[in-house]
Amino acid sequence: MSPGQRNKKGTLLIEINSNLCKGCDICIELCPTDVFKKSEKLNRMGYYLPVVANMKNCTGCRLCDLMCPEMAIVITEGQKTDKEKSRQGHDN
Ligand code: SF4
Ligand code: SF4
Repeated sequence: MSPGQRNKKGTLLIEINSNLCKGCDICIELCPTDVFKKSEKLNRMGYYLPVVANMKNCTGCRLCDLMCPEMAIVITEGQKTDKEKSRQGHDN
């Protein structure tokens, strides 16, 4: 699972499970606000993974989550966990 990205308020987290993703690009094509883009990163099955490129645009509509045929997208609502906060601390 990718570390995921949060919206500005930190209330919404999107994660892409790289082990499940088959690189079909449905999420990229369907997202109404262009949150995803194709990356150059391959998963272990050889599929190019999408990345969250414009998280600030995400409205939380969950279309990507609903339409991903591999159920590889996980959207979580809620504030940052202690684990995330400590990870952020190490990044700074
Ligand atoms: S819709 Fe799902 S399987 Fe397709 S590229 Fe997006 S995350 Fe991967
Ligand atoms: S929840 Fe909606 S706006 Fe956010 S990334 Fe998914 S499809 Fe795009």
